[in-house]
Amino acid sequence: MTELKILISRAQIAARVAAMGAEITHDFSGESVIFVGVLKGAAIFLSDLARQVQLDATFDFIGVSSYGNRPSPTQELQHGWDSTGEVRLTKDVDQSMRDKNVILVEDILDTGLTLTYLKRILLAHQPKSFRIAALLDKPARRKQPIEADYLGFSIPDEFVVGYGLDYAERYRNLPDICVLPRS
Ligand code: 5GP
Repeated sequence: MTELKILISRAQIAARVAAMGAEITHDFSGESVIFVGVLKGAAIFLSDLARQVQLDATFDFIGVSSYGNRPSPTQELQHGWDSTGEVRLTKDVDQSMRDKNVILVEDILDTGLTLTYLKRILLAHQPKSFRIAALLDKPARRKQPIEADYLGFSIPDEFVVGYGLDYAERYRNLPDICVLPRS
């Protein structure tokens, strides 16, 4: 496997995820929460974050894909995920979120199209509260006005892989977050 440049090391991720977990524990003291992970990229982040939260917690997962054809890996690398526009649901949550404290867990907030769409779907369940936990944010690429309530790191407009994030399904198991060169 080619050597990729590390943008955020596993030690930096661990420290930041622990701090995010402590913040969530503090904010929801005495309550239960449901973590809703966005497949597949958020799976590793969710499993680490949830173990840093000292609350009664359950998990659920939701799946999305870009509408029509997902861009080819090369297009995705060059132009991001918004090149085909809308997103669609490929897997809904398994349970009602009504009157629950929902924490939507996403790997990266880019244009904001995905989280805007998922927020609308989950708010329709009428949860008690709704928060977004995102590991990464690329604010320079935002097209929808949406922000994370709990954020790991703001990063520049680079295509990143590792710690759950893929390129054509590869690299998800890298322990660090790395930059994939665009050319
Ligand atoms: P948004 O809808 O906010 O534009 O995009 C969010 C989704 O785009 C993420 O869940 C992720 O699948 C994908 N994405 C955006 N930027 C990157 C990136 O730098 N690397 C990878 N691997 N996926 C990205």
